[in-house]
Amino acid sequence: MSQTVFISGASGYIAQHITAKLLAKGYKVIGSVRSAKKGDELKSLFKNENLSYVVVPDIQADGAFDEALKQHPEISVFLHTASPFVFQVEDVEKELLLPAVTGTKVALTSVLNHGPQIKRVVVTSSYAAMFANEDIPDVVSDETTWTELTWEQAKQNGLVGYLASKAFAEKAAWDFVEKEKPNFKLSTVNPTYVFGPQLFDEYATGPVSTSVELIKAVLKLQPTDEVPSVQGPFIDVRDVADAHLVAFESDAAIGQRILLQDGRFSNSKVVEIIKANFPEFKDKIPAPKTTHEEEIKSHCKLDSSKSDKILGIKFISIEQSIKDTVAQFIKVKAV
Ligand code: NDP
Repeated sequence: MSQTVFISGASGYIAQHITAKLLAKGYKVIGSVRSAKKGDELKSLFKNENLSYVVVPDIQADGAFDEALKQHPEISVFLHTASPFVFQVEDVEKELLLPAVTGTKVALTSVLNHGPQIKRVVVTSSYAAMFANEDIPDVVSDETTWTELTWEQAKQNGLVGYLASKAFAEKAAWDFVEKEKPNFKLSTVNPTYVFGPQLFDEYATGPVSTSVELIKAVLKLQPTDEVPSVQGPFIDVRDVADAHLVAFESDAAIGQRILLQDGRFSNSKVVEIIKANFPEFKDKIPAPKTTHEEEIKSHCKLDSSKSDKILGIKFISIEQSIKDTVAQFIKVKAV
């Protein structure tokens, strides 16, 4: 009999790719969404009877996932992807820290109390939780390092708030397991900047995930603009989805933080790839003022060798990822 996997935040960019991979492998999937409208949209796009949804309007509410778990005792895996990924906020605590941290604790508490049969839980964390120090070239970030920020520092602005929200939420998950000794085993997936197409063209026409908006912003540059300096480590969304499956299928992933990265991107690199592959943007997008090497040189190193070994995935290249992302934006006339 096929296993049933629960995924919170099923409407999200990464979650849709995870759902597609799960369905393709014969899993039944129950996704949580914030409204029936979002659930119906997903059902009509996936067109797969192995996908159903439950509405969880507020992941911070006590027992938010209790009812869903009581009604579906067949669930054996719980993936928690729902978390705000925005930098533009007015209230860091309310819009980022609390949904991320309380949402994670609420989800794990529901599993503890109402999903004793659930054996594996995967929390989608982030490299944002793993910075040793991004701005020192000789420092190495890996599966053992943590972003050290206080709750007060987190409230400075949306960017710092987001980084801290992921660090606090992931820490809360590991602390929960340590304290409660639940029936399930925990793994986290820690992606760096995620690029790649939306699973469905329909989602590429409007606002997209904050990471993919970076590529759209480059496409929208005018010849007289300056290319903003943006860089960071990168991974393709389809690899992120595969990693979530490995995170609960493989025993080697138990208790692990799985760092996902395939080197650094920079806006110089993104511009180079776009100009080389899409003639219509060749003269429109301005030339970067600096080189890729220059843009990335003052940042820390990442060592994901432990995670790479657990995953055994040959990652999709930055070239392919950007090409597929841009091709979709062009196809749906989003740029
Ligand atoms: P999306 O914005 O596409 O997805 C976010 C998901 O979380 C959506 O389903 C959204 O629901 C849900 N969500 C957001 N805020 C809340 C809230 N307050 N209460 C309930 N649900 C909420 O982003 P991604 O798919 O890119 O992100 C998914 C996960 O991956 C997040 O945990 C993010 O931190 C993490 N991540 C993303 C990276 C990236 O570069 N994209 C890198 C590293 C980690 P709704 O559709 O209703 O808004």
